[in-house]
Amino acid sequence: METKIGLEIHCQLTGAKSKLFCSCSCEYRGKEANSNICPTCAGLPGTLPLLSRRAVELAGMISAALGCTVPEEIAFYRKNYFYPDLPKNFQLTQYNAYGITSMGVDGIMQYGDGKSARIRRVQLEEDPGRLVYEGSMETSPYALIDYNRAGVPLVEIVTEPDFADPKDVRLFLDKVTSLIEHLGVCDTRLEGSVRCDANVSVGGGNRVEIKNVSSFADVEKALRYEITRQNSMASRDIEIKSETRHWDDARKLTKESRTKEEEQDYRYFPEPDVPSIVLGSEFPSLVSRSMPELPDKRKERFISKHGLSPHVAQVLIDNKELADFFETAMSAHYLPREIANWIVNDLMGFVDEQQKEERSILAGLKVTPGHIAELARLVDEGTINRSIAQQVLAQAVKTGEMPSQVVRKTHSSRIDDSDELGRVVDSVFKAEQSAVQDAKSNANAANFLLGKVMAATKGRADPKAALELIHKKLAEQS
Ligand SMILES: [Zn+2]
Repeated sequence: METKIGLEIHCQLTGAKSKLFCSCSCEYRGKEANSNICPTCAGLPGTLPLLSRRAVELAGMISAALGCTVPEEIAFYRKNYFYPDLPKNFQLTQYNAYGITSMGVDGIMQYGDGKSARIRRVQLEEDPGRLVYEGSMETSPYALIDYNRAGVPLVEIVTEPDFADPKDVRLFLDKVTSLIEHLGVCDTRLEGSVRCDANVSVGGGNRVEIKNVSSFADVEKALRYEITRQNSMASRDIEIKSETRHWDDARKLTKESRTKEEEQDYRYFPEPDVPSIVLGSEFPSLVSRSMPELPDKRKERFISKHGLSPHVAQVLIDNKELADFFETAMSAHYLPREIANWIVNDLMGFVDEQQKEERSILAGLKVTPGHIAELARLVDEGTINRSIAQQVLAQAVKTGEMPSQVVRKTHSSRIDDSDELGRVVDSVFKAEQSAVQDAKSNANAANFLLGKVMAATKGRADPKAALELIHKKLAEQS
């Protein structure tokens, strides 16, 4: 049966510094509850909202980067619903009506290998406050309300239901995240700064919305669970209700939370305290011009200018932090391909999945771009071979020592004295006489001898030089 998945991605504009309609800080995390509020964001009577220009510019950049049409005039609407996390009992958001659209409409974004998804709209709105429970929501004897987050500027990106496979959803979310990192609009490493709700329907049935999913990995899991659940119901002719379901992380399933509000339930109406704002005909092009280099362009540059493979370039640009790390290392020693391979193939092996999920790949890592640049240089100059370099990297990750320091301390630099290497080969020939006899007729047996030489030197021998010596010695003996 045909599966249709649409996404609503919420991204906090932490780069805007202040809340959307007052001058309170965006940084509510770690603060005492209800200390980051003022009469405006607390929704006290008589206060008036004042729109943040910076938030409008950042939201405009996101829209343009997603290929949306950016409007020349914007307006805000009240979305009415009663929930304790809303201090005003309505949320200020955007709505497409009377010829005025939200911050962006009708975009399209490429992702993965030649796939694309349409963006229905991008809107600017306020984040609600937070409800704090003791333990879980179901068992907590009370709910505490913290309005520190209320009013933080939020961009909601709504896609068309253009996904069929949860794996594609994941690729798309990674792309959007990298995009907003490159735009500098949102610090994606902050908990809850990028959140995603998804809606799913199978076989043209009712749409089910999945909320409360804390990570992108869980979005993928929740979608898989939900598709299986709906398919199984449909095959037994049970009607699928239009509803909102929450992802239960502990039990790894979605569960019913409430029947979904319909659009008319929100009674949208224009916010009388914020006039419609004319951004001007220059605004869309101004926004496009002020955008930094975006991931696709950066990937192209990594490939065409620095000779990286498309795969390696993709891994780097998927996380801005990693791409920046690469560029810094490369500026220390211009060995782009070697450095990129060390980062992608080796360094990433020391980063756990949890950190990758939280996008703080480099947090707590003792290895800097300088370390990787030096490691690549030591290999390039032939001071150490690759397998030694891997051990050196492991040591550097553990202690933060520079690779050259590790090499000096462990005498692990390559044996470039041919006499020394010759002595090792001699002793291997003495110890492995039957292999030597074999090697005279069987070329593969020479590799066995090489393995013994590498083991005896703990990998410090240059394999090419050692093999030459072995062949020379074999020729002498036959
Ligand atoms: Zn405030």
